[in-house]
Amino acid sequence: MENPAANDDLVFIVRQARASDRVLAELHQLYQRLDQQLATTDWMCKKCGKCCDFINYGHRLYATTAELALLTQSPPPNTAAAQAGRCPYQVNSICTAYDRRTLGCRVFSCNADHAHIESAIYERLHAQIRNLHERHCLPYMYAELTTATRQMAHAGKGSTNGLPNLRDER
Ligand code: SF4
Ligand code: SF4
Repeated sequence: MENPAANDDLVFIVRQARASDRVLAELHQLYQRLDQQLATTDWMCKKCGKCCDFINYGHRLYATTAELALLTQSPPPNTAAAQAGRCPYQVNSICTAYDRRTLGCRVFSCNADHAHIESAIYERLHAQIRNLHERHCLPYMYAELTTATRQMAHAGKGSTNGLPNLRDER
């Protein structure tokens, strides 16, 4: 699979979001509230990492502008994985971005009995994240994770960490 051309709009607005401490802090707080809520349900992810191998698992993960901004605060350690349809933040089945992982990462359940809860929680939290974009006048995008991270890595070629160092560009 070839690297996609950088999506200038996506790269630009993710930079914009990453430059906003308030956006990132609010999203982090939203994730914390979500995690507390999920802890009260009867579903517990065993962190096997299988669903992060998207192609083999038959799963696709999408994330908004703000989620991509928080997730990519640090560059992915395994950029080649995205070309193979796996999350570039996964190393040896371990998520290396666990505190920054997206809403979809947190809510997804491989237990079919939990699907209705997953869907309801995802829709409600996704609406809150969308509202966060509106309140901060942040352009809203919703992008597939491996494509987005590959586009950002492509745009960041030449930077020292393989991704644009967005905080240095303020
Ligand atoms: S949701 Fe299921 S497949 Fe995905 S990491 Fe958790 S236990 Fe593994
Ligand atoms: S960010 Fe972590 S939990 Fe989410 S898909 Fe990647 S490795 Fe899996």
